Amino acid sequence: MTLLPRNPNAFARSPLDRAGHRRRDQAWLDAAFEGADVQIIPMSGFRPLVIEVGDRAAPGWLDHATATRLAPRGALRLFLGVDAKGGPHFALDAGDGASFAELGRFEDLRMMGARLSSDDLAMIGAAKAVLEWHAKHGFCASCGAASAIVEAGWRRDCPQCKAEHYPRVDPVCIMLPVFGETCLLARQRMWPSGMYSALAGYIEPGEPIEEAVARETMEEAGLRVIEARMHSTQPWPFPYSLMIGVIALVADDKETIDTEELETGRWFSREEAALLIAGKHADAFAPPPFAIAHQLLKTWVEDG
Ligand SMILES: [Zn+2]
Repeated sequence: MTLLPRNPNAFARSPLDRAGHRRRDQAWLDAAFEGADVQIIPMSGFRPLVIEVGDRAAPGWLDHATATRLAPRGALRLFLGVDAKGGPHFALDAGDGASFAELGRFEDLRMMGARLSSDDLAMIGAAKAVLEWHAKHGFCASCGAASAIVEAGWRRDCPQCKAEHYPRVDPVCIMLPVFGETCLLARQRMWPSGMYSALAGYIEPGEPIEEAVARETMEEAGLRVIEARMHSTQPWPFPYSLMIGVIALVADDKETIDTEELETGRWFSREEAALLIAGKHADAFAPPPFAIAHQLLKTWVEDG
């Protein structure tokens, strides 16, 4: 297992230094937010502002004057970090976004993700996850009092019981069961016809990754995992998961699909899997490169 140097997944490889030591430096944050080199991405409903430039769409990174002219008063400001040249980046809660209509529109990250650059996906994905966490965690989980945003958007403190709450990350294992020269993909009923993907499930308290992989593979497909090979991980901001990709070698190919969760499962040969990721299979297709399932399949096809 080697996780560095290169993560193949969308939402990884942020170009920013998170500069965590600046999060409590209000004077620095205020100056950075108003500085000439600041980049501010407005978000509405956890969707980034998108501006059409010619026939291309780009995220609406704004300067201070434009962003604050259009944003609601007192809008939540999240410090994302600084780029290689020291330029600070922020996300700004744009409320219902109506005042930004003169510039562009707010687009769902999942729908437009494949059209964004790797850098923009990583920065805006992080912003989306944190802003959605704030929206859903306004009250202290210990005592129920309304909590306050601190640390430049990276923590909520309870004024009553003094508890500190950090943005949550939900770990999910996603695995490709492999037996010999075949791999198992499955589909959910709600997916587009013909789409197949890897198995996945939330990791539970008390479970190491490999035991969650074994449990989910048994629950969903009735297959016994004999070896779990770490592939890569992916921040997946829907709403704030961390996908942990594993290639799971299984004892046999006698699957029993849990039809409560899944519609069906299907074994694909390596040749068929190559066609799936190339988009050339006759009656099935895999998730796009944007999804870690695609990267798992690609690695198995190319490297075994
Ligand atoms: Zn509290």
